[in-house]
Amino acid sequence: MISLGCAKNLVNAEQMMYLLEQAGYEVSGETEGADAVIVNTCGFIDAAKSEAIDVILELAEAKAAGTVGRIVVTGCLTQRYQDEVLKELPEVDAVCGTGSYDQIVSVCDRVLNGQTVKEFGDIDAPEKECGRVLTTSPLWEYIKIAEGCSNRCAFCVIPYIRGRYRSRPMDELVREAEGLAAQGIRELIVIAQDITRYGKERGETLAELLRRFCRIDGIRWIRLHYLYPDDITEELIDLVATEPKICKYLDIPIQHINDGILKTMCRRGTGQEIRDLFARLRSRIPGLVLRTSLIAGLPGEGEEEHEELCEFLREARIERAGVFPYSPEEGTPAEKMDRPDEETARRRAESIAALQDRIMDDYNQSRVGTEVTVLVEEFDGQVYSGRSYAESPDIDGRIRFTSEETITGDFARVTITGVVDGEPFGIGMPDEEERKTL
Ligand code: SF4
Repeated sequence: MISLGCAKNLVNAEQMMYLLEQAGYEVSGETEGADAVIVNTCGFIDAAKSEAIDVILELAEAKAAGTVGRIVVTGCLTQRYQDEVLKELPEVDAVCGTGSYDQIVSVCDRVLNGQTVKEFGDIDAPEKECGRVLTTSPLWEYIKIAEGCSNRCAFCVIPYIRGRYRSRPMDELVREAEGLAAQGIRELIVIAQDITRYGKERGETLAELLRRFCRIDGIRWIRLHYLYPDDITEELIDLVATEPKICKYLDIPIQHINDGILKTMCRRGTGQEIRDLFARLRSRIPGLVLRTSLIAGLPGEGEEEHEELCEFLREARIERAGVFPYSPEEGTPAEKMDRPDEETARRRAESIAALQDRIMDDYNQSRVGTEVTVLVEEFDGQVYSGRSYAESPDIDGRIRFTSEETITGDFARVTITGVVDGEPFGIGMPDEEERKTL
């Protein structure tokens, strides 16, 4: 199994691995000698598509050399280019869309019987409950609370690939979270394309779901990824501010700040509303770390709009931000709109990234002398490394530290003493709260 793209895709890969193991297959991350290789693809933007195609081409060579058997391609790229994948990449033996992950056993059975398989189910069907083989870390895991997206931002292809928004039932999610806690998971990372919309179809709210997650023993941190700015309720802000288990870390993709661009891109809310929201969140949630994602070179962005975005970033001092040059995606309304050329979009993305690097360096320097709780993930015999509430896995770096006392629990208390290669470094000790629970 090779899983590309985002955490939401990874959860689907883990579900497929579970189903295959239940059916008696042996699943591994090694491709050499495999009877079949499944590539779970991302097809969100050009760079992701190219990565997926490169992986498939490498596997095609391995197949020709006889080191892998059949090639099965699942996920977003296949959903988006259903016929093209089989036609343009003849080495591929099976394609399976985002509405058919639960059919992976039958797809593999058929493909290993020599058939060429095309499996595309309903991408709007309710999500089915499914076990997972956990692949990330023994201490943290994603929990995907909904599938699809109904926001229909003009540049985004996700609603066409992943279907309309469907929240998973709350009881089922609580059961899954309890199961993760029972396996030793300490940090639960709540994900969906847009978690703020959770439960609306049934009159439920994200805040209710989070309160139930907070009651689960063993889970100490709950981290929230992908909140839509105009759906962040007072109830949710209060909960984040007062509930110790919820990390004071919010990932709120805004994409841009200019009113005209937000409107043309069918984003709800204005730049001023985003500014007000961020100011309100900072005043209500002390120590809050904000993350966002931005797109440079969107249709309608001139130098003035780009400068407005830079000015906003200089003022808001968002601690974490990812920036992408705009990639016009086939079939989206924005694809047909006038836009800056590719080179301009790339140049603007680079200038925003450089600006954000400076903001992040300042933030790291401001933490020197403070004490933080760290989830300890590695020890090389001399130096421990892990993450505080301010670092989400894989995207925000790590904190390294030494300790005179051996750290035996999952968490440590670390005083940050400096910044080395852009990452905080410190001196740690066992965490008292953790010691009580050991
Ligand atoms: S909210 Fe996010 S996933 Fe949904 S359409 Fe907009 S950009 Fe795409």
